[in-house]
Amino acid sequence: PPHLAKYAMSYVFVQAEFGLACPVSMTDAAARTLRKFGDPKLFGAYIDGLTSTDAETRYTGAMFMTETQAGTDIAMTETRAVPDGDGWRLSGKKWFTSNPDADVVLTLAKYPGGDDTTRGVGLFMLPKVLPDGTRNSYVIDRLKDKMGTRSMPSGEITLDGAYALQVGRLDHGFKQMAEMINTSRLSNAMRSAALMRRAVSESVEHARARVVFGKPLMEQPLMRNTILPLALEAEAALGLIFHSGDMLQKADAGDENAKSLIRVLTPIAKHYICKKARWVTGEAMEIRGGNGYIEDW
Ligand SMILES: Cc1cc2nc3c(=O)[nH]c(=O)nc-3n(C[C@H](O)[C@H](O)[C@H](O)COP(=O)(O)OP(=O)(O)OC[C@H]3O[C@@H](n4cnc5c(N)ncnc54)[C@H](O)[C@@H]3O)c2cc1C
Repeated sequence: PPHLAKYAMSYVFVQAEFGLACPVSMTDAAARTLRKFGDPKLFGAYIDGLTSTDAETRYTGAMFMTETQAGTDIAMTETRAVPDGDGWRLSGKKWFTSNPDADVVLTLAKYPGGDDTTRGVGLFMLPKVLPDGTRNSYVIDRLKDKMGTRSMPSGEITLDGAYALQVGRLDHGFKQMAEMINTSRLSNAMRSAALMRRAVSESVEHARARVVFGKPLMEQPLMRNTILPLALEAEAALGLIFHSGDMLQKADAGDENAKSLIRVLTPIAKHYICKKARWVTGEAMEIRGGNGYIEDW
């Protein structure tokens, strides 16, 4: 579907279930990245799996990028890739991988002869299951004890000579991975906008029902003063997401102006909306009073 429709439907869904949206977004982003840069002969079947809606045959996607010393600074990547026939063998440790048991993983590794910048890091596709039906050689060392998004696991991985296929040009690895990161960033912003909407809806519902000093909270001027800015932020976030979805659609269709705009809109939306979501949801917790601090609520 068009990006705008995708974001609109996801925005509604995420208000009910947040964790699933991360693997769904990475699956979408992996298919997009493989389509854009991968050899269709090599990756056609994987793209079909990633875009399938059949529960029996569908694949999910993930990205193994972060290493202990290489988070923001990806040029510090230590995972090594060595050529092996038509493919590559990858060895190293990945420190933060969401949806770690995905079927199709995009990952970064240093290749022989590459320099010490991000140009020395290539993009590879790691299948969970090898063409002969056996499991690829990497293990999940442990799952992370995250503070949030707990319904979706994130893990630490050791790649032990894992089989992988090269995606696009080796020295464009990070540039190509940025396509997946940016698609995930916009999705993150959409999900945070949805969390804000849910928080505002809960706040309004509670303020209408809860009576203090003889009147519903909603009729108390200071409560209205508290809720209005939250509603404005939620509305503004939705506007920014829909505008960005529209620009991404136009950019994909070749509109140069939209291409420049989406480059700027993506980090702005991610930065602004995700930060605001923490404030809006924190305020919404206070609106529920003591219950706002209790897990059941
Ligand atoms: C819920 C969750 C899910 C994740 N899922 C994945 C995943 O699926 N795959 C994956 O690969 N990674 C994943 N990550 C990891 C994430 O991508 C990294 O944590 C992130 O890239 C930052 O790297 P770092 O933790 O090493 O922080 P660092 O690079 O050490 O940065 C620490 C802080 O310094 C700031 N900073 C960095 N450079 C500068 C600078 N030049 N000037 C000023 N400040 C700077 C950063 O913004 C950050 O606030 C996930 C993280 C979280 C929280």
